[in-house]
Amino acid sequence: MSEKLYIFDTTLRDGEQSPGCSMNLGEKLEMARLLDRLGVDIIEAGFPIASQGDFDAVSAISAELRRPTIAALARANQLDIDRAWAALKDAAKPRIHTFLATSDIHLKYKLRKTREEILRMISWAVGHASSLCPDVEFSPEDAGRTDRSYLIECCHAAVEAGATVLNLPDTVGYCLQPEYEEMFADVKAGVPGTEKVVLSTHTHNDLGLAVANTLAGIRGGARQVECTINGIGERAGNAALEEIVMALYVRHDVEPVHTDIHTEELYPASQLLIRLTGMQVQRNKAIVGLNAFAHEAGIHQDGYLKNATTYEIMSPETVGMPTDHIVLGKHSGRHALANRYRELGYDLTKPEVERAYELFTKLADHKKNVYDEDLISIVNEGFEHIPELYTLKLLESVSNSEGRSTATVEMEKDEQCSRESATAEGPCDAAFRAIDRVTGIPGTVIEFSVHSVSSGADGTAEVVIRARFQGKEFSGKSTSYNVIEAAARAYLQAANKGVYEIRRSVKDAAATGGSVHENELVDRLLPGGY
Ligand SMILES: [Zn+2]
Repeated sequence: MSEKLYIFDTTLRDGEQSPGCSMNLGEKLEMARLLDRLGVDIIEAGFPIASQGDFDAVSAISAELRRPTIAALARANQLDIDRAWAALKDAAKPRIHTFLATSDIHLKYKLRKTREEILRMISWAVGHASSLCPDVEFSPEDAGRTDRSYLIECCHAAVEAGATVLNLPDTVGYCLQPEYEEMFADVKAGVPGTEKVVLSTHTHNDLGLAVANTLAGIRGGARQVECTINGIGERAGNAALEEIVMALYVRHDVEPVHTDIHTEELYPASQLLIRLTGMQVQRNKAIVGLNAFAHEAGIHQDGYLKNATTYEIMSPETVGMPTDHIVLGKHSGRHALANRYRELGYDLTKPEVERAYELFTKLADHKKNVYDEDLISIVNEGFEHIPELYTLKLLESVSNSEGRSTATVEMEKDEQCSRESATAEGPCDAAFRAIDRVTGIPGTVIEFSVHSVSSGADGTAEVVIRARFQGKEFSGKSTSYNVIEAAARAYLQAANKGVYEIRRSVKDAAATGGSVHENELVDRLLPGGY
């Protein structure tokens, strides 16, 4: 019988803090519910000292989800740890996760502390956390580049102070598999009392080795792995949960551990994260990419049709990926639509079905076949997770081959309609600038991608935009048979998130006695020169 491997999901912490992946409270809760359904053992819900938003997310998730352990991150000091504990107060199974860098590079340049000082800080911080919470995880940050004998001393100090989980992160994605495996074996052999603690991996994908290193860590003795949905995270990202889970599932013949993940929720979880953040996965992404189960080459298709196992090591159904594509047309009813959504992993409420149906019929008027991808896009676009401050009522776009475009938008907010026009080099840019004039908060587009969401000439275009408002990045995503309209709606979605966040941070600052006054901020936000 293989041993149980604990899945520690940090999509909402390490994932969420990376560029383009921020989520608001409602979105984090929605993601956490799906992670619970997926069966993850531990949800790292945030870094409570970092912001009021993180604190609220940890509190809300702690109060709602009873099955998984809820972890909160804290640096190795009293303020952080107390704040984490306060956020966890309603959790059924709380865990404080405290960390401190231990590599010489970090000690010298970041912390400016000696090895002895760090050891004392670890003992104190883990001891303090243990006095509050029975479950305490300690991470020596940059363990992968820490001197091995010093790493063992640090781990020893943490275990003696009461740590229940020792996480050895390859923070910078530098390790190769044999090194990472050996580090676990060394800590296991060198630190007294490790039989009572769980060893954990935390790997980054800078060299494309995050999942491989995770599996190496398991061979070295780790029984918890830290990972994120779609592998989102700092820089090149964290180890992808779905890849680890399926590697262990498919190769249970040789791997020494199993997980309790409900694999058929992997694809819905991946899709939900894309919907919430606008962060796409590449088509050839393992397990959850659009092409992950597509057999294109003739000889492969032939073999596959004779017997799927000739070219398929797992079935799309196992990971919850829908397989039949043409489903609905103009004459399909609400019931069929709701059913199909259920099969795709979306349990829509009655008003949501109504809204989806309205968008579906609008789309079906323009194209003959509505594909699963179209349906997913409808949910992505049509269901607002941020209060929709501004809605786009009308877009007019005129452009010519000389490279001048004019856009006029009519937008509504609190039942008041505003109309603005702007001129720019391209039609999309003109639409964005017109939107900026209405919201009064100019944004800078930093990523703009267009692709067709379904096959055939009637395919609709999906536009994903990442834009910066006030130094923070937000994403928007929209689908339409008109690319300029899709771009304008995607941009507006990002702008709505920006306006919402900026207002919220003004309120937060006011609540905590911060020095930012709304007028000051609004002054800074007003567009400079049009
Ligand atoms: Zn990390």
